Amino acid sequence: MGHRAASQSRVFYRSPATRPLLPLALFQSARFVTSVAELHAIAPPGLPEIAFAGRSNAGKSTVINVLTQQKRLAFASKTPGRTQLLNFFALSEKDEHGERVDRGFLVDLPGYGYAKADAGQRATWDELVGGYVRERQSLIGIVLVMDARRPFMPGDDALLRFVDRRGCLLHFLLNKSDQLGTSEKRAALATARKSAAAIGPRASAQLFSGLKREGIEELTETLTRWLFA
Ligand code: GDP
Repeated sequence: MGHRAASQSRVFYRSPATRPLLPLALFQSARFVTSVAELHAIAPPGLPEIAFAGRSNAGKSTVINVLTQQKRLAFASKTPGRTQLLNFFALSEKDEHGERVDRGFLVDLPGYGYAKADAGQRATWDELVGGYVRERQSLIGIVLVMDARRPFMPGDDALLRFVDRRGCLLHFLLNKSDQLGTSEKRAALATARKSAAAIGPRASAQLFSGLKREGIEELTETLTRWLFA
């Protein structure tokens, strides 16, 4: 067994548990634990965190709800006034005694790209999301949810610049693929894979449809690999 470089801080936070037998069940176990409005209020880094980011309306809430098979999990964070929060959901398994053991967290990041956002709201987003992405040691990877019809919009680029400095795992999720024809899907995926390849092996891409529930297995497989590789 080789040892990984100590500089890869995320390795330190990786769960020592073995890969779950039922990866879907791990995501279905998601339960809301806390919201954070300011970085100084965040808990010390612990179990690995996977963050979901995306422009408003790209379908980030739908994706989280479909992945976790919980209809309203992520929509709670869309209540007016609660949109500029980091929302943490714990993922757990049962041990041999039937006790719940947490394995990691999904983190729903505030959306961006609102037409109505003013400079103050943008600055708050930059500070909160930028700070979290840049500094959070237990953040192992980010799922960037985009509308497959218009991926890599302004805002997505800003997020990617924050991520760049960190070098964490990255998955481009091209949601709403049900809105594309076969050749459009192929082209969208090829473009996103090219962007991922330009970043390196830590980045990947896939098509998804929250509406049609397509792509759940591929997403689950990717995130399980991130948590338990
Ligand atoms: P969020 O702002 O990124 O959290 O986006 P929502 O999850 O609220 O979704 C925004 C809109 O897109 C809603 O009207 C959803 O019903 C719709 N939507 C989400 N996912 C899909 C999808 O896969 N296909 C289609 N056609 N519409 C979707």
